[in-house]
Amino acid sequence: MSAPGSGFATRSLQTDAQFLKGVGPRLAPLLAKAGLRTVYDVLLHLPRRYEDRTNLPPIRNLRPGQFATIRGTVSDFEGRSARRGGVVVLKALVGDATGTATLVWFNQPWITKRLAGYDGEIIAYGLVKEGTYGCEIHSPEFELLGDDDDPDAFAKIVPVYPLVEGLQQFVVRRAVDAALEGYLGFVEDPLPEEFRRRHKLQKLQWAIRQVHHPESEEFRLKARKRLVFDEFFHHQVGLAMRRAETQLERGIAFGLADVPDLKAQVHQMFPFELTGAQSRVVEEIWSDMASPHPMNRLVQGDVGSGKTAVAAAALLAAIRCGFQGALMAPTEILAEQHCAHLHRLLDPLGVRTALLVGKQTPTQKKKAAAAVAKGEADLAIGTHALIQEGVEFQRLGLVVIDEQHRFGVLQRLALREKALGNPDVLVMTATPIPRTLTMTLYGDLELSVIDEMPPGRQPIKTWWKLPHERPSVYDAVRKLVSEGRQAYIVCPMVSEGEKMLAQAAEELYARLSQKEFPDLRVGLLHGQLKVSEKEAAMDRFRAGEIDVLVSTTVIEVGVDVPNATIMVVEDANRFGLSQLHQLRGRVGRGSEQSFCVLVADAKTDDARERMDALVGTSDGFKIAETDLRLRGPGEIAGTRQSGNLDFKIADLVQDGVLLEAARQAAMELIAEDPGLKRPEHAKIRERALRQPGEVAVIASS
Ligand code: ADP
Ligand code: MG
Repeated sequence: MSAPGSGFATRSLQTDAQFLKGVGPRLAPLLAKAGLRTVYDVLLHLPRRYEDRTNLPPIRNLRPGQFATIRGTVSDFEGRSARRGGVVVLKALVGDATGTATLVWFNQPWITKRLAGYDGEIIAYGLVKEGTYGCEIHSPEFELLGDDDDPDAFAKIVPVYPLVEGLQQFVVRRAVDAALEGYLGFVEDPLPEEFRRRHKLQKLQWAIRQVHHPESEEFRLKARKRLVFDEFFHHQVGLAMRRAETQLERGIAFGLADVPDLKAQVHQMFPFELTGAQSRVVEEIWSDMASPHPMNRLVQGDVGSGKTAVAAAALLAAIRCGFQGALMAPTEILAEQHCAHLHRLLDPLGVRTALLVGKQTPTQKKKAAAAVAKGEADLAIGTHALIQEGVEFQRLGLVVIDEQHRFGVLQRLALREKALGNPDVLVMTATPIPRTLTMTLYGDLELSVIDEMPPGRQPIKTWWKLPHERPSVYDAVRKLVSEGRQAYIVCPMVSEGEKMLAQAAEELYARLSQKEFPDLRVGLLHGQLKVSEKEAAMDRFRAGEIDVLVSTTVIEVGVDVPNATIMVVEDANRFGLSQLHQLRGRVGRGSEQSFCVLVADAKTDDARERMDALVGTSDGFKIAETDLRLRGPGEIAGTRQSGNLDFKIADLVQDGVLLEAARQAAMELIAEDPGLKRPEHAKIRERALRQPGEVAVIASS
């Protein structure tokens, strides 16, 4: 970072943006607001779009419904408060030789400052609409030509940059051009020539120039490709290095070969045969466990694909080799359920389990922790209490983390650091996530996919119903209950927090238990209930003493009651797709035909597409892809907080192919030069080792 003043003397990519020609101390804070602090930030501030001003349409040719750029002279500007709701409406009349159009802004009073009294030329861009007096452009972006230093340079393809309030387009353009002019030469290409040729990548300096001022569409795409590749590649190299490091670390080499009847024991544990996919994944895990390096493996599988069985096989193997296992779940309900389930499977084999959750009394906790410390418990199951509450293991060998995305990478590391002697780690995701996200979020893990469902599973029949069709939905619930089945009714999401959510659940419960199903046994489950109440509700539902369980998304993950065969989701359009898929996975867990009814007043195209996606497929991976496309990476089930997704240029939705290529290239590179010790890889190493999300510096001199 250059101190102000010294920037003149030592110019580098880290020079403060204020020293760029035409910026200065007055405009620099505005650039900083847009994230542009250094020259390097400015160089990599990519245009949002480009405008071809060589060929603007005459105003007469505007057609409603199109996006268009017009150039004309402002002849009238009018600002007034409209009657309804006090909305400020500003209008400017713009004309060229062929006609006039009206620019309209709503509630953007600051526009007045720039347009009042202005009678020069303007360029405006936006969606053309039919107005009372000819065409209108609503809330257009605009530039006043008087602003520009060089009006002759006008008739060309110009970049349009993202802005923040108060920052004008020409200021950013001027800063970018000054940066290109004075600093592009400082950018060093981290990728050696030979590497670039092999991967068909352009030079970095060329790419940066072209992305701002493309000579053609083809060049623009090549330039962008180079920049996106760079971003993915360095991130992937960082992940690959981390993986390579784990492979060098010493961990536990489980003596699986010395447990003669391990497979027979696994077989004995389940009332069913493992599917081919489950067996394959178990083998992959066992082979990691047998190796002397710590395992770091992610198991992905659709809801109901039988991840728990795989975890049980891994845990049994660790325990038979004389180690302890730990299983971490994201919620207490789940931890308890896992505990009950695994106890049922493993107790007959003599495995002793201990439960550790936050809500236990100090005495209970102490007792469980003591059992774990003395090695009297072979398997500890719990929430994050397992890592938080000073639990010491006697001989921890394997950690299974269920529903990983709720924990995040940091906790994964914390757990590993806590244990002595580098235990093996197995991570299981709750819901499939798109492959691009797997590669970025879990790129440092080996991947196993359970891509097959247990046999005899009938696909869940899913319907989308409108709110006025509820009576028929309730009839269906009643009919199934009369056949001995059970139902979930999931109440709408509310964004106002847990309390409001609980209230919504209470209201729905009151309505259903009193009006719709007074003769049925209706139960209630939400996050604000006392632990004992939650437990009682789950126990009674599991025991078949509740016919209809009204619930919030508390039941979203992992809850397993095979006799529940219908789920009704109220206001389904308020949920994310992956979340709905996860919810839906609570039914269809037995051999009976199961049903899912989404009640949604889906009015927009997006909303309809979302509902149709769920009705149309039960493939969680496909649904995750759709979810990613419609909502973007940050919103996908709980990955929000992850800094790993903060790419500046790359887009996980569009750039999946480049990500694959970058990952492949990164793995090849690390296989060739694991520590990136060769001098020609020094720059790659330097960039890759920075934390994701941190500003990556290509070079400074
Ligand atoms: P996931 O955690 O992947 O959603 P679970 O491990 O909870 O799935 O398994 C879902 C249900 O399928 C459970 O009731 C489980 O007992 C059952 N199951 C798992 N594997 C098999 C199999 N190979 N054959 C038959 N049923 C299975
Ligand atoms: Mg599970």
